[in-house]
Amino acid sequence: MSVHNFNSGPSILPLPVLEQSAKAIHDFNGTGLSILEIGHRTSHFQMVLDSAISSVKRLMHLDDQFEVLFLHGGATTQFMQVPMNLLDQDQTAAYCDNGIWGNKAYKEAAMFGNPVLASSSADKSHTYIPKHLNIPANAKYLHITTNNTVEGTQWHEYPNVEIPLIGDMSSDIFSREADFKKFSLIYAGAQKNMGAAGVNMLVVKKDILGKIQRKIPTIMNYQKHIEAGSLMNTPPVFAVYVSMLTLQWIEQEGGLAEMGRRSQERADLLYNTIDSLPIFQAKVATEDRSQMNAVFFIEDESLQNLFLDQCKEAEFVGVKGYRTVGGIRVSMYNALPLSSVKAMADLMQDFAKKHG
Ligand SMILES: *Cc1c(COP(=O)(O)O)cnc(C)c1O
Repeated sequence: MSVHNFNSGPSILPLPVLEQSAKAIHDFNGTGLSILEIGHRTSHFQMVLDSAISSVKRLMHLDDQFEVLFLHGGATTQFMQVPMNLLDQDQTAAYCDNGIWGNKAYKEAAMFGNPVLASSSADKSHTYIPKHLNIPANAKYLHITTNNTVEGTQWHEYPNVEIPLIGDMSSDIFSREADFKKFSLIYAGAQKNMGAAGVNMLVVKKDILGKIQRKIPTIMNYQKHIEAGSLMNTPPVFAVYVSMLTLQWIEQEGGLAEMGRRSQERADLLYNTIDSLPIFQAKVATEDRSQMNAVFFIEDESLQNLFLDQCKEAEFVGVKGYRTVGGIRVSMYNALPLSSVKAMADLMQDFAKKHG
């Protein structure tokens, strides 16, 4: 029996990426050295970095106004690094509080400036995305979480704003085509949809930098990382390598258009199954449903536990909802085959027949 990997992150990676990574652990590109042993200032690693950056620029259709960085730390590091680089202590920035990750970003910003809420969905347990935003005239930027991994909501159309737009895309990066040029800064922890844990990918529009008075520690300074070409210190070499392989895989499979087609196909199958079976309830507003993370419930808690037990028996991994939300969460990232969603839909049908 094969495992179906619905993990929310770290999560499923394409098989060719795992195979190539395994090979590179033993011998990286015929160098006789492991990818874990090569110097980060060698031409070997420079090629990895250059290739990853080129893939990102091609996939997102970015021009020279944008820089791509691969930096240490998870997306959580960016919750502080963004305001540290873009906000002086007396300046305002607007944040959308649409889930636990966006809320954390908002709270961290208070250490560096004056964040205000442009919207909050806390009134309905973050089951929707408010489209009306209150942005103060003096706000330096607007921060959104494009996909709310825990609550299962997703921005399907990005807001149009006059100020720099910043997106935490950790859980839907490279899952579909979009107008990425709307953003002045995009960040994503790699471990959900583009690689292994330990590295952040950043896309930065250069004209937003260098506008504040604060002294920024060198290792936190975006400008210095750009000048150093993501090589200020030793980068997470292996994590960057896995991202490079995943980016190449995305391009070979047909790019973001194809990733988007697959995301839609998986999500349609799963949500149609939920909607056709009254025992399962998705509480998220239909138009805001996430294509990446479907969150749903069975009202009777003992039945819900029974369902989770059956998922375990069937070797469906990672389907228990986040601890603060409960219920069931099925994460469907780029590398998840449609057959895994079919297997889940079949189990749900069977379960509904017996217990619905
Ligand atoms: C997982 C996640 C984070 C936190 O990522 P870390 O790499 O663990 O710091 C932040 N934002 C979003 C949207 C996430 O899904």
